[in-house]
Amino acid sequence: MIKENLTQIRKTIKATAQSCGRNPDEIRLVAVSKRFPVDHIREAMNADQMLFGENYLQEAQQKISALGAGPHFHFIGHLQSNKAKVAAGIFQMIETIDRIKLATTLERHLASLGRTMDGLIQINIGREPQKSGVLPEECSKLLEQLQSLNHLKIKGLMCIPPHSDDPELSRPHFQAMRELAYHLQRHKLLPQDRAPELSMGMSDDYLVAIEEGATLIRIGTSIFGERPR
Ligand SMILES: *Cc1c(COP(=O)(O)O)cnc(C)c1O
Repeated sequence: MIKENLTQIRKTIKATAQSCGRNPDEIRLVAVSKRFPVDHIREAMNADQMLFGENYLQEAQQKISALGAGPHFHFIGHLQSNKAKVAAGIFQMIETIDRIKLATTLERHLASLGRTMDGLIQINIGREPQKSGVLPEECSKLLEQLQSLNHLKIKGLMCIPPHSDDPELSRPHFQAMRELAYHLQRHKLLPQDRAPELSMGMSDDYLVAIEEGATLIRIGTSIFGERPR
């Protein structure tokens, strides 16, 4: 099932990218494996999926040590600063940086590990009080404070738009994300050498996200099925 789902999703990514004039190779699929056991991850790896997303640190830590070298993991959940030491050692990217303290703590641990890591700023694009992330207008201030970090490299933005059953309702949020990322890049607050990373789009709205410029899409349910409680 996982293999067939991946094949289907890859086809859809490619077709959607081509239909809006984008190069499908610019779009990376993050298979969100939270709450699924490692054998599901292995099955996806057998179908050439090597990039995964996890939300819970302990769970991720156990899976990553069970799987060994090979797969890459992005952290996509809420990260407490007192867990930054572990996180600095095991992920390729942390997509949910939303405050200075978390970033500087990660930087310190990365420096002592002699390791660099990519990061994204999580934007609370729908201004939902219960959600983490910085408000769009607060992002440039945070990025200014992070310019001097040498080990944590901020590559772009991530968002989780308000939940809805209609993917079209995500579109204006994704458009706002793209405009914000390019605005920040023009102001030299994101890397100049390539397009900013935009992590947006999940099982229900990833097609719209690709049309609006996503470079990372995070898909769980459509690959692995309904998540166990
Ligand atoms: C769970 C989760 C996903 C995947 O959601 P699906 O609807 O299962 O595709 C993506 N991003 C984040 C941040 C998540 O927590």
